Amino acid sequence: MKRILITGAAGFLGSHLCDRFIKEGYYVIGMDNLITGRMSNLEHLMKLSNFEFYHHDVSKFIHIPGDLDFILHFASPASPIDYLKIPIQTLKVGSLGIHNCLGLAKAKKARVLIASTSEVYGDPSVHPQPESYWGNVNPVGPRGVYDEAKRFQEAMTMAYHTYHGVETRIVRIFNTYGPRMRLNDGRVLPAFIGQALRGEDLTVFGDGSQTRSFCYVDDLVEGIYRLLHSDYTDPVNIGNPSEISISQFAEEIISLTGTDQKVIYKDLPVDDPKQRKPDITLAQKVLNWKPRISRKEGLEITYSYFKTLTKEELYQKDHMNFDKYIKL
Ligand code: UDP
Repeated sequence: MKRILITGAAGFLGSHLCDRFIKEGYYVIGMDNLITGRMSNLEHLMKLSNFEFYHHDVSKFIHIPGDLDFILHFASPASPIDYLKIPIQTLKVGSLGIHNCLGLAKAKKARVLIASTSEVYGDPSVHPQPESYWGNVNPVGPRGVYDEAKRFQEAMTMAYHTYHGVETRIVRIFNTYGPRMRLNDGRVLPAFIGQALRGEDLTVFGDGSQTRSFCYVDDLVEGIYRLLHSDYTDPVNIGNPSEISISQFAEEIISLTGTDQKVIYKDLPVDDPKQRKPDITLAQKVLNWKPRISRKEGLEITYSYFKTLTKEELYQKDHMNFDKYIKL
């Protein structure tokens, strides 16, 4: 049985990856420090004999007994309001965390896949963004802690690949959505759906003309699965090129949820990218991958999930386990 370590296992993407690798017959070791992740995302796996969980911060030395074939590094706060609250952890998990993962991979002769991001392109001046674009990132802006950690992570991963011969893969993930997102993580989709469910007005930041391209989680997981098993070591974009402005997106959520709330406009956050859309030519070529689930279909599944939340969860202001786990 192949053994895989997934960091950030209790998070949105991490937990979906655990599900996929369990389904494929792997022995899955999940790791998370539970600052932004939640055990409820993994509860259904805890009883399985081919799943185990370590409550551990990957910024610290990682010890895993036994063999390892693969490591997926997905631990990181990933929403702008999260990494504004914990900027130093965000930098540490991207830098010290990947160093530990790469060291572990070298020791175990495991293949590593790292979660990079469309944020490496910053506020892009090239549209759509191909992997060859180097980006437009403000290192000292509020998003710099995330963007630069991820850029460092790519550089470190390449260095371990070229200098130590570690097998590495890099996925650049664009906006992804689906069940298990935290309702109050600040991302636009859970924010709008939460507002609709609570009967509040939908908050569009800026004039709403900025664009994003949303990928359903199952499509992303399929792309990651294919990339891990490919022999391609340069970064690959995985995302859905179907682009939409944020104000149009608010309208879509209003018709999806049938709410009669209106849209209100708030200030645009600093360094908020004006446009974002993946060029997926490379993924199509090297992985024979493209997204299959339309936004309409994906939004319906996601809305059904959010509708199952309890009233308490719907009104909870913050799901982050700050006080319990944060020691800077
Ligand atoms: N946004 C918004 N209203 C909200 C939350 C976000 O208009 O309540 C906007 C945000 O300014 C950005 C876009 O939606 O332009 C996507 O934001 P998100 O935080 O989901 O991710 P980003 O792609 O910016 O990392």
